[in-house]
Amino acid sequence: MRIKRLKLSGFKSFVEPAELRIEPGLTGVVGPNGCGKSNLLEAIRWVMGESSPKSMRSGGMEDVIFAGTTQRPPRAFAEVVLLADAGDNDSELEVVRRIERGAGSAYRVNGRDVRAKDVALVFADAATGAHSPALVSQGKIAAVIAAKPAERRMMLEEAAGIAGLHVRRKDAEQKLRATEANLARLEDIMGQLD
Ligand code: ATP
Repeated sequence: MRIKRLKLSGFKSFVEPAELRIEPGLTGVVGPNGCGKSNLLEAIRWVMGESSPKSMRSGGMEDVIFAGTTQRPPRAFAEVVLLADAGDNDSELEVVRRIERGAGSAYRVNGRDVRAKDVALVFADAATGAHSPALVSQGKIAAVIAAKPAERRMMLEEAAGIAGLHVRRKDAEQKLRATEANLARLEDIMGQLD
């Protein structure tokens, strides 16, 4: 998967709608302190389903909505749109995440309403996601060097494209447990009938 474009509206310091083209290859974001470099990277993580406000340097998820300044009123919602090459057949993937004050986040993939979990799977299957090592924030290089073996393993699994299997395994285990409980109940009932 290759991210091609990013559109932001009301997200953190990006109060006005902004659109960025991301060209093939390595992309670096440079600019003076406080201009919004980290906010951009956070927008990519956020649209990919990041659920931890702490990773967004926020107290609560609604804090990603433009909070207003002395000259400008706060916004009621924040929206990030990510456009990417879906992979095999060159089709385009459009993922939208929107948050409204008091209403939480909503996601759309290619125009269809989906759950956060579905969005996470779309990216995990493409060997990327909110925690992809391809998104290198300030200080990340030092963190990679200091990472524990288990954390390095997660990075390798993401790079190898098998991170999505963990989510599917968890789902399958839950279904298995529910089926085992149903079977035990059935045996009880059959035992009573005998
Ligand atoms: P540095 O190089 O110093 O790390 P940076 O370019 O990475 O800076 P960011 O941290 O992305 O900059 O942006 C910080 C700016 O974003 C600050 O001016 C902050 O006030 C603004 N900001 C963050 N959240 C919001 C919000 N919800 N509403 C309005 N502005 C916000």
